[in-house]
Amino acid sequence: MHRLEQQFIDNQWVRSRGARYLPVMNPYREEVLAEVTAGAPQDVDDAVKTAQRALPAWRSLGGAKRATYLEGFAAALTRRREALVRLSSTNNGKVLAEAAIDLDDAIACYRYYADQARRLDERQGAAVSVEMANVEARCYHDPVGVVGLITPWNFPLVTSAWKLAPALAAGCTAVLKPSEVTPLPEQALAEIALEIGLPSGVLNLLNGDGEGIGAPLSRHAGIDKISFTGSNRVGEAVMAAAAERTVGVSLELGGKSPILVMEDADPEQAADWVMAGIYFNAGQICSATSRLLVHEAVADSLYSALEKRIDALVLGNPLAEQTDMGPLANARQRETVNGYLATAEQEGLRVVRDARHRQLPSRGYFVAPTLYRDVPLTSRLWKEEIFGPVLCGHSVANEQEAIALANDSDFGLAATVISGDGDRARRIGRELRAGSIWFNSEQLVLPETGWGGFKRSGIGRELGPWGLSSYLEVKHVIGPSHG
Ligand code: NAD
Repeated sequence: MHRLEQQFIDNQWVRSRGARYLPVMNPYREEVLAEVTAGAPQDVDDAVKTAQRALPAWRSLGGAKRATYLEGFAAALTRRREALVRLSSTNNGKVLAEAAIDLDDAIACYRYYADQARRLDERQGAAVSVEMANVEARCYHDPVGVVGLITPWNFPLVTSAWKLAPALAAGCTAVLKPSEVTPLPEQALAEIALEIGLPSGVLNLLNGDGEGIGAPLSRHAGIDKISFTGSNRVGEAVMAAAAERTVGVSLELGGKSPILVMEDADPEQAADWVMAGIYFNAGQICSATSRLLVHEAVADSLYSALEKRIDALVLGNPLAEQTDMGPLANARQRETVNGYLATAEQEGLRVVRDARHRQLPSRGYFVAPTLYRDVPLTSRLWKEEIFGPVLCGHSVANEQEAIALANDSDFGLAATVISGDGDRARRIGRELRAGSIWFNSEQLVLPETGWGGFKRSGIGRELGPWGLSSYLEVKHVIGPSHG
């Protein structure tokens, strides 16, 4: 069996100093694909020291030269497209089209930050207008330093791109830790670093779990910033570790995003958006619109349009072209989602569609696409992130109620508004407290627009110029204008 026991440090594959190994699963076949090292704190130490050594030269290289490497990542990922999409689908359970989105969005992100890196050169030393006479002030942007990047399993290539691309563009050097659940796709990033001649130590990739790599990386004294995407539980631990050393964090955490369907919406069209918002990637999306707030005037027609669509979804082998929904990515996540379905039964939730309505494939970590309606606002399923193909609906009488309930959540990552009137949808969108608001569309994520959450969904923004800024320190050089 394939054993991933190597770490990528200083542009070399070196054996991990850890002694534990973890199985990497194919979630459709329920078979072990490979074993991965759990890592060890000494690996972190080696990688951080290397990244520190690489920092001065990488920082001084300038944005335009760094941009060529980012373009190299985009081009090399494009060349590997077919193989990587299949690998990602096999390791993650996502269908081919979803794996292709993960990769294509990653490629777009490397390209975008190549352009941002060039613009950074133009911004360096910009004069700042000051009122005081005979004083000159100029603004510069320095990289934060050595950054630790920790990613989850649901979209491995894109979540790593959103961190690595702006970090490298800014002039930071990085230690990247993929999720131990889906480590296979991100190994390509180390291979590409070698292929494109990325200077040694700029990117270090450490395989392992939270105990072996994640926690030691978060508390390592040589790390100047941690960027984390994952659960709230672990995000809080990462933030506590960073607080002990007063270093910055970016946190991209959970969500419980609403989708509002207004009375002037076409129920058939709305049903397509609702489906895309919750059953895409089997619901394992942080921005899944998992709370449906539907106007009572269109509720019945929307639910019957959804029933038809759910029944038509093909569950099965994620590598087969006709499959719409694959298994969940791991057994633990299936257990978590099934726990919520058991709670729903105890709470007596009104079922529109669940496992009783369909035969599941005989193997694989599948959960049937599930829909509840008239879910009480006190239900755990209404309030908590489930991270699976489970949609909870609740009817509202008017726009004000829809907005109030949409905002009544601990989270604020995303929201969707569906209305026959685009201006109304935009206006309602402005009232919602979340980082990404889609109107008459779903899950539109573009490199130019920021990504991140209000409230418990996180701290900071990735993507766009904000993503770059989060890896930069701003500095002003001030003195008498006559020298
Ligand atoms: P997780 O928190 O279990 O793991 C995320 C990463 O943290 C993994 O690499 C893991 O090995 C590592 N880790 C575990 N313990 C650690 C520790 N003590 N210190 C440091 N690192 C540690 O999350 P997951 O189950 O992989 O992903 C699902 C969660 O991620 C969901 O809550 C989802 O909403 C969230 N998510 C958020 C976004 C976003 O952009 N907001 C995107 C994707 C996923």
